[in-house]
Amino acid sequence: MRAAVLDRDATLIDLVRDEETGTINTAFHPSHLRLLPGVVDGLRLLAANRYVLAIATNQPGPAKGYYSVDAVQKTNDALVALLAAQGVAIAQVATCCHHPVGAPSGDPALTFDCACRKPKPGMLFDLRASLGFDAASSWMIGDSTGDILAGQAAGMRTGLIFADNRCELCPLRAGIAAVKKRVRPDVHGATVMAVAEAIVALG
Ligand SMILES: [Mg+2]
Ligand SMILES: [Zn+2]
Repeated sequence: MRAAVLDRDATLIDLVRDEETGTINTAFHPSHLRLLPGVVDGLRLLAANRYVLAIATNQPGPAKGYYSVDAVQKTNDALVALLAAQGVAIAQVATCCHHPVGAPSGDPALTFDCACRKPKPGMLFDLRASLGFDAASSWMIGDSTGDILAGQAAGMRTGLIFADNRCELCPLRAGIAAVKKRVRPDVHGATVMAVAEAIVALG
């Protein structure tokens, strides 16, 4: 059995831009969910090619006191339901709510150097154990170097989502050439659909 494990933020759903305050956050409420272009088509293509779909997401907000673990869970559940309504089945969601440093108002119980926060491969090992996929024929797909490094550490192939209009906060905004030199994803594309097509083309 093979799987495609996807990052959540800026891979499947857009970041949340607050025009009034000029801040950019990750989604923490179902009303924040905006699927990015090419996500539904790309996931359908992967599923049609016998990839079981899963999500692995870093959510340090609770460790920093920004919002609750419950808010993260409800947002993840709503995303799974949103995709299901489009005919896309997500087999499992793995979530890391930890952070090594945290914040003064954060939850100390979530503040430690865990084994699951990407770029560490812990969530991918957990998904492999419960879903039973073969790592070498499976893919980790995401928009950050942490996604690619986690996939490589888990023995998976990797796809980097790299849109031309990367957000101003993105650590990868230096450009695709620099990023590819650093983390060497197996494929890259501007959307989940572009990456899915590249994966399917490899067989
Ligand atoms: Mg991301
Ligand atoms: Zn963790």
